[in-house]
Amino acid sequence: MKNWAGNLDYASAEVRRPASVEELAAIVAGAGRVKALGSRHSFNRVGDTDGVHVLLDALPQTIELASDRQSVHVSGGVSYGTLCRSLEQSGVAIHNLASLPHISVAGAVQTGTHGSGVDNQSLAGAVQAINLVRPSGELVSLSRADGDEFLASVVGLGALGIVTGLELAVQPGFRMRQRVLENLPWDRALGNFQQLVSSAYSVSLFTDYAGDSISQVWLKALDTEQPLTELFGATAASDPRHPLPDMSAENCTLQLDEPGQWLDRLPHFRHEFTPSKGEELQSEFILPLEHGPAAIEAVRSLAGKLAPLLFVSEIRTGAADEFWLSPFYRQQSVALHFTWKPLQAEVEAVLPELEDLLRPFGARPHWGKLFSTAGHDWESLYPRFADFRSLASAHDPDGKFRNGLLDSILGVRAASAR
Ligand SMILES: Cc1cc2nc3c(=O)[nH]c(=O)nc-3n(C[C@H](O)[C@H](O)[C@H](O)COP(=O)(O)OP(=O)(O)OC[C@H]3O[C@@H](n4cnc5c(N)ncnc54)[C@H](O)[C@@H]3O)c2cc1C
Repeated sequence: MKNWAGNLDYASAEVRRPASVEELAAIVAGAGRVKALGSRHSFNRVGDTDGVHVLLDALPQTIELASDRQSVHVSGGVSYGTLCRSLEQSGVAIHNLASLPHISVAGAVQTGTHGSGVDNQSLAGAVQAINLVRPSGELVSLSRADGDEFLASVVGLGALGIVTGLELAVQPGFRMRQRVLENLPWDRALGNFQQLVSSAYSVSLFTDYAGDSISQVWLKALDTEQPLTELFGATAASDPRHPLPDMSAENCTLQLDEPGQWLDRLPHFRHEFTPSKGEELQSEFILPLEHGPAAIEAVRSLAGKLAPLLFVSEIRTGAADEFWLSPFYRQQSVALHFTWKPLQAEVEAVLPELEDLLRPFGARPHWGKLFSTAGHDWESLYPRFADFRSLASAHDPDGKFRNGLLDSILGVRAASAR
């Protein structure tokens, strides 16, 4: 099996597709090493194992709205695309979405996947309860009332259990409009950064860091927000746009302020458009919002080296949350995302330099994208990191859910815990 980007072959010796949670629990209990995969949209080996890979697509796919219409229960293999169509039919919505809807809910939440918006938490922010299979095969349910165990497990890199279900908060469905503005001068953008990124429900800036201006500003506004056709010198595009200047916008969600449902505006790409694989790589670094302008200036100093490797970069924001390993843990954040050309060796060569530039700003790498494993002081980046490591060792003393990448992040387990 390969991941979506095709940049890695998974190392598993066996792939299983259990048809029930009981079968899944038995597989986990009997395996030496085991890991779940979602839709395989991660770019690194966070989901890899040299043991058994379990795919949850043969489990009953359930989406059950609670009778009070405040939450929905979703089983482990469901994608956001499927979930959102079902929620829309029931007249409810989730608060935010990533750039594409094809990713699995469980896999996205486990890596801290996010959309944009200064007041919008990552997708994990909606999680109210989680069902897990522990290494012994034991089934556990954790909710917000369980405190630390819950806060550790939601963004858990698959290290604390295999997620068989999630309860997500929902709200009444809402309508949105999307508009792309072009050619935002850098000096105006950085001089008015907080106002810029707060100018709509969700704001994304697309750039290659070179030149005097940001090429595109994507504004996703609620129906109740004032439409904007000019912003700090950027002006409205006359036709629909793709984030890449040479690409047709036909696969992008509708723009030009045409009103539509939340699920048809929040992602950049349409659900009907299903790329089976991608000719791209990605990295992303999340840091405190107040450092945004200085961090972006630092990245601009590297524009000459980045530009030949970049398709495009996207700058987004997110609200603080309480999940121990969330890149948004207790900080309102800006996320600097890089869509690279499929040149892995060259990208890996430039990443340490980029990370050195971003380190003084407390940049936390996206768990599902490419980053260097060396040079990150995880304990200072994540105040509850040591607690997470202890919990992972306590729940998984034999390292069933571990792999090389997790060992390099969490540290090789102490002899007593093996
Ligand atoms: C084209 C593209 C666009 C993207 N856009 C965004 C974006 O807008 N915002 C953003 O933040 N990220 C984005 N990403 C990154 C992506 O959201 C994350 O990598 C996410 O983890 C992918 O979900 P998945 O289901 O494919 O997970 P996988 O890659 O399959 O797995 C990721 C991790 O989750 C674990 N996992 C999966 N399922 C389970 C389970 N049931 N129980 C326990 N652990 C599990 C795996 O073991 C692994 O550790 C994008 C990726 C691509 C390819």
